[in-house]
Amino acid sequence: MTTPLVEMDGDEMTRILWKMIKDELILPFVDLKAEYYDLGLEKRDETEDRITVEAAEATKKYGVAVKCATITPNTARMSEYNLHQMWKSPNGTIRSILDGTVFRTPITIPSIKPAVKSWKKPITIARHAYGDVYKNSEIRVGEAGVAKLVFEGENGQREEVVIHEFKGPGVLQGMHNTDKSITSFAHSVFKFAIDTKQDVWFSTKDTISKKYDARFREIFDEVFEEYKSDFERLGLEYFYTLIDDAVARVIRSEGGFIWACKNYDGDVMSDMVSTAFGSLAMMTSVLVSPDGKYEYEAAHGTVTRHYYKHLKGEETSTNSMATIFAWSGALRKRGELDGNTDLVNFADQLEDACFDTLNQGTVTKDLVNLMEGVEPHAVNSRDFLLAIRANLEKRLEK
Ligand code: NAP
Ligand code: MG
Repeated sequence: MTTPLVEMDGDEMTRILWKMIKDELILPFVDLKAEYYDLGLEKRDETEDRITVEAAEATKKYGVAVKCATITPNTARMSEYNLHQMWKSPNGTIRSILDGTVFRTPITIPSIKPAVKSWKKPITIARHAYGDVYKNSEIRVGEAGVAKLVFEGENGQREEVVIHEFKGPGVLQGMHNTDKSITSFAHSVFKFAIDTKQDVWFSTKDTISKKYDARFREIFDEVFEEYKSDFERLGLEYFYTLIDDAVARVIRSEGGFIWACKNYDGDVMSDMVSTAFGSLAMMTSVLVSPDGKYEYEAAHGTVTRHYYKHLKGEETSTNSMATIFAWSGALRKRGELDGNTDLVNFADQLEDACFDTLNQGTVTKDLVNLMEGVEPHAVNSRDFLLAIRANLEKRLEK
């Protein structure tokens, strides 16, 4: 390796898996160059969360990061970890520094059939992670009256529209988005499509929302002009359709494309897609910034319940697939950027060794009831990794 990978360690069961993955699947095979940031909750508290900001800055500098799942503190965690403050979600912090979009893709294998029969290839959801209902203002109206939407510009633009003349109690909501954020979203989506050679579907409800959703569509059309020739060269397609039409088409499709969604649509649809493909433990996630920086991780959390079993000395059978694929994704990207074909090949071999293992029926407990056509035997967290290592060694000997 020439350029270091930004490595962000995390919490609980995934932290245990993280070390095992490094010890068994990475360090024996790769001369790893990494800049290590410990985003474990204790370290975040100790550094007043500066470590998270530093890790994000390093990702900006080097371009590729791999992240372990981390605890987002709530009240219960405040006392459990004796925290000085309820630190914000590290993913939120990193996302806002990189201004990125999150892409979630299921890891698929022949013996786990998607709930939707026509799906043959994974569907990647790109969720716009800024604004709309997630940054709204709401009012509970208690009596008759007029609700208005008012904008007062710094340079004199003034607009006022009536939302509704209430005859009695009701509810009200105001929300926003910015051209800047939508533009970044569009760049990230088209870049990722070119990178992974997949079509892009984008959907909103601009027939109803003629200014708000229409702005999303306009910006996507404008930004697409910059990528059009690359799409044509690669034989890729970008198309826009209404969200309800998109839902119908997604269900009838074979998969194998990126579905770009507004914030709320992405929230809902990513849960539908991941569940329909099988398991949250088999879902990868990558944050892509509009200027082409990448942060790879698993879509799931720190698997707290398994961690407490582990602490009690009980055996766990936690699925490390998504975390391993975060590593392979990051190593492959690093290899591509540095022209390091050995590293790219290693990433491919590592993923193939994972597939060999699952296809042999060696799985973690969460997958047992999902397998068809292969007799699954469940193993513990460590034995699963050791089985992958054995397959990896076999492949690398060839
Ligand atoms: P979670 O860690 O994803 O786990 C929820 C449940 O899903 C687990 O209890 C387990 O079910 C199953 N599961 C998830 N990943 C699995 C795996 N790799 N192998 C086997 N089973 C798996 O979500 P959570 O319990 O809601 O959150 C725990 C902590 O993670 C929270 O502190 C949260 O803040 C954090 N979190 C972090 C991220 C991130 O860093 N990206 C994302 C989400 C949540 P069973 O118990 O039935 O076996
Ligand atoms: Mg959700």
